[in-house]
This record gives sequence, C-alpha cells and structure tokens, in this order.
Amino acid sequence: MTTVFISDLHLDAGRPATIERFLDFARLEDIQTSALYILGDLFEAWIGDDDIEPINLKVMETLATLTKTKTPCFFMHGNRDFLIGDTFTNATGCQLIEDPKVVEIEGNQVLLTHGDLLCTDDEPYQELRRVVREPNWQRNFLSKTLEERRAIANDLRSRSLTETASKPEEIMDVNQDAVKTMMRDHNVKFMLHGHTHRPGVHTFALDGCQATRIVLGAWDNQSSILLWDKKGFRLKTIPH
Ligand code: MN
Repeated sequence: MTTVFISDLHLDAGRPATIERFLDFARLEDIQTSALYILGDLFEAWIGDDDIEPINLKVMETLATLTKTKTPCFFMHGNRDFLIGDTFTNATGCQLIEDPKVVEIEGNQVLLTHGDLLCTDDEPYQELRRVVREPNWQRNFLSKTLEERRAIANDLRSRSLTETASKPEEIMDVNQDAVKTMMRDHNVKFMLHGHTHRPGVHTFALDGCQATRIVLGAWDNQSSILLWDKKGFRLKTIPH
C-alpha cells in the first residue's frame, strides 16, 4: 500500500486543465493507496465554505467519492485555503489535520507542514499570517457578503503579487534554522512540505544524524506527487 501526498494545486476556474488533471488523479485508479494527504493550497483561493462555485463542487464531489469508496483523505490548510471549514470537511469526508503534524509513514516519523511557517525571513508575510489566522479576523471576514470577501481576497492577492515581485528569491524560501528547530521540536528526521514551489529532496546533518526535507512542487505545468511505500519514497514530477 502507498501513502500519497500532494500540495499547491492552486485549483482555479481560470485553469480548467489543472482541474481536469486533479479530478482524474483523485480517482487514484492505478495506485493501491492507504491514504491521501493534501498539504494545503488545493485551491487558489477559498473565501468561505458558502462559496459554491461549480469547480469547488466538482472537486468536493470527487473527494467525497474517494473517501466514501476507498481512501481516507487528510487535508491541511495552506495560506490560500485556510478558511476551509466544517462544511467542506463534512461534505468531502476529508479529515482536517493541524499544521504542523507528525504522522508515521512506513515506520518513519514524518513532520508534515504546509511550509509557509518556515519562511521566517519574510517578516511582513509572517505578520499577515498571524493576523488572518486569528479567530476574530476570520469571524469578521466570514460575516461579510461573498462579493465583499472576494474583493478583499483579490486585494490581498494583488498586494502579495506586487510585494513578492520585489522580494529577493531567498527570502521566500524556507529558513534552514526554522527547518531544524521545527524538526528538533518534534523529534523527527523527515519533514515534508510544499508552498515554496521548489520541489526537491534535501539531506543535511541534524544533531549528528541525517535529516531529510522533501518538498512537493506546485501543479502548474506539471503534477508533483510524493509516493511512500515500504520500499521508500519517490517524488514524481509528471509534465502536463
Ligand atoms: Mn502556499
């Protein structure tokens, strides 16, 4: 049996090909899957579970079929879809997991995280993150109409695009000290995350042992999938 991990699909009505790829992938027909983990940013934006766009419903139906028929599915919030709530999880059968979370995969303790918490060099982003993750901010935001929420989300997104364009590349990658601290705090030698859109496998020394950080890629012009079974893990990139 194989555990399957994905993140950063950024599903959006404006990119129908990626949605089709996800719907096709999520049937998990060719893989004997013990569980599917979605490590955040499944959607490009999520302004509340009451935003019933046709593509959102299609994705939810596909996940519901998967969880009902054969495969448990675990979902972690990303920085784009942290407002996914009970209505979504009830409708899809996905179980929400906190960020970070340690799970046992084939006898290994593996720390799962979306990845944005590790980008500590980007201080303005970390400040914004603190604000929008506050229950009061979220209650206030969700009390607005869908139109108002859409406008705020678009504004935040365009501001982030402008800021991102002027930030040096390395500031938006993970901070290695933050990586080591989080791994030490959770007593693990494996970490798996997405968010940075820099797929790869990094090994380094951590307190005299080898540590491994696996990074899932975004689904832009490729699919990025991590498969982990008793023979080990494989990070697969499938060009579109
Ligand atoms: Mn992200």
